[in-house]
Amino acid sequence: MTSVEHLRRARLLIGAALCLCLLTLLAACSRPPQLQTLEGRTMGTYWQVRLAAGATGTPLPVLRAEIEAVLEAVNAEMSTYREDSVITRFNRAEAGEAVDLPEGFVRVLAAALALADQTEGAYDPTVGPLVNLWGFGPDGLREVPPEPEAIEQARARVGWQRLTFEPAQRYIVQPGGLYLDLSSIAKGDAVDRVLELLQHHRIDSAMVDIGGDLRTLGQRPDGSPWRIGIERPVPGSREVQSVLLLPRPLAVATSGSYRNFFEHGARAFSHTIDPRSGVPVQHALVSVTVLADTCLEADAWATALGVLGPEKGFDFARQRGLAVLFITADADQVREIATPAMQSLLGAIP
Ligand code: ADP
Ligand code: MG
Repeated sequence: MTSVEHLRRARLLIGAALCLCLLTLLAACSRPPQLQTLEGRTMGTYWQVRLAAGATGTPLPVLRAEIEAVLEAVNAEMSTYREDSVITRFNRAEAGEAVDLPEGFVRVLAAALALADQTEGAYDPTVGPLVNLWGFGPDGLREVPPEPEAIEQARARVGWQRLTFEPAQRYIVQPGGLYLDLSSIAKGDAVDRVLELLQHHRIDSAMVDIGGDLRTLGQRPDGSPWRIGIERPVPGSREVQSVLLLPRPLAVATSGSYRNFFEHGARAFSHTIDPRSGVPVQHALVSVTVLADTCLEADAWATALGVLGPEKGFDFARQRGLAVLFITADADQVREIATPAMQSLLGAIP
């Protein structure tokens, strides 16, 4: 081979190598960084964390263990299904007994009591005796509605004003017979706490989902907005009814009467109970989806608006500028009613 041929060959090789580099670079640019998923079970449902591959230097098994520790802490504080949780200790305390609270519990209880005040008791974290009586608590399901006397007895025990709460000193006092139930808000709080853990690890793009209540961090790894599917509110269905494009990091929670309920005669009884009547709500509302900055707010509002119903709840939400989607079902007709704040987001349905 002559030296000219050598040169030509070398040039060709370098050119080919350069081309290859460029192609790889282009591929890297066009292929979105992949999402990786961590998942497990908690609070009777699934948990899922999605984050960009390589988003953190922390090994994934370590991150998973830390997420599980956060979820464990929430359950150890607020699960009415656990014998040894803080909430169970309070629920079983004698009249006059004070129970010390961890910081997170104080925050959640303060939010729940503020909402009870704002909704004049439609939302009430002391609704527990009614929840249990109707078969939606740790005592297990029932198939027939309870007797009116039993409802009256349980209702007499409900009343958030009876609770002595000292947030600064971090304790509550059991007045006797009061039973706290924070199931309507604990899942949202758990989502927020897991998200804070991710932020602590300097992760800037993620989605945390516990049983459909979720919160996003940043944008998707490819820079596009996170898309949220809202389920079709039909028992057993996982079909998506609407898609929301989140313009900024937000939390989404849905409270539905279509998944946790029992039927008796021509009526369905769901796990959303009106503490004022002592009976599960009976309006045509099948699901309420709320968008808020924190999942704690979204989760609590979803339950509260579910009690208030599509009319009163709608006015309530609109006056407060909340982004809410109500889905009602009447005579097999499914209707969507969105507040103005939600409409601007729903406009983004593809
Ligand atoms: P999910 O079961 O998907 O978490 P929610 O967030 O709507 O649904 O929470 C429902 C739970 O809220 C019920 O199982 C019950 O424990 C509690 N709950 C029911 N009615 C009320 C109410 N009026 N105020 C506060 N909590 C309630
Ligand atoms: Mg809720």
